Amino acid sequence: MFDFTFGDITVTRIVEMEMPMLGATTFFPEWNDAAIEPHRDWLIPRHFDPASGNVVINIQAFLVRTPRHTILVDTCVGNHKPRNREMFDNALFPWMDNFLALGVAPEDIDYVLCTHMHVDHVGWNTKLEDGRWVPTFPNAKYIFARTELEFWKQQSEQDQMTRTGDYIVDSVVPILEAKQEVLVDMDHQLDDGLTLQPLPGHTPGMVGLNINSGGAEAILCGDMMHHMIQCHIPDWSTVACADMEAARVTRKAFLDRYVDTDVTIVPSHFPNPTAGLIVTHGDTFGFRYIGE
Ligand SMILES: [Zn+2]
Repeated sequence: MFDFTFGDITVTRIVEMEMPMLGATTFFPEWNDAAIEPHRDWLIPRHFDPASGNVVINIQAFLVRTPRHTILVDTCVGNHKPRNREMFDNALFPWMDNFLALGVAPEDIDYVLCTHMHVDHVGWNTKLEDGRWVPTFPNAKYIFARTELEFWKQQSEQDQMTRTGDYIVDSVVPILEAKQEVLVDMDHQLDDGLTLQPLPGHTPGMVGLNINSGGAEAILCGDMMHHMIQCHIPDWSTVACADMEAARVTRKAFLDRYVDTDVTIVPSHFPNPTAGLIVTHGDTFGFRYIGE
């Protein structure tokens, strides 16, 4: 298990997959050999696979347990869903087995928080039952930032989904139909010691989850950055960012704010063990995994 404890709040990672899966030069338009040359030591093979040219990406959910609530943050890609990306299409991941192995039942989840509405963060919101998409977590309130949901209702944003398949229809709309959604502001307080943090850019309504308990602080920061190279080269946004410039501004402010502090940073897609600290590295930033 991949557990971290902050005061009386625990975070458990539930991994769906970790592998080289996105073409580096496609995903990061500014990626080039000269720029990555100084980083090859830490980059290869853990974070970049030169044979395929793909960056290593982890897709995972986070089970957050407080004294009062059991919360699931982000819900990966999910199973049985029609997707334009082959690896995600009609997938049969053992993610639910990993979830159940924690001794938690779907009925136990009080809140599902989607940091943002991308295909790899909403998948297990729903499951296929008798040919229909129904909420996987029947007792959960699904926490969506109002700004984020409004964004994905626009036609231009709907069009962006052609690259992955219309995941809003099968993974978000059924939650609305079941009336299990709670629309919140981007700085909403979810529980004692749990507050949303606005991280707009990658998508307009993306939020992180700040954990503050017993003097320990952590931030599940969603896709504020996708890859460790973005600590070293904060200017690089991805093709998946709705607003690359806004994503850059948010990322630089975040790195400036948390560098050389003891705040544990948990970026969704960083490989095992995912959590770490932002540190000074030369005249820019680096990332040191917890326990290394
Ligand atoms: Zn993502």
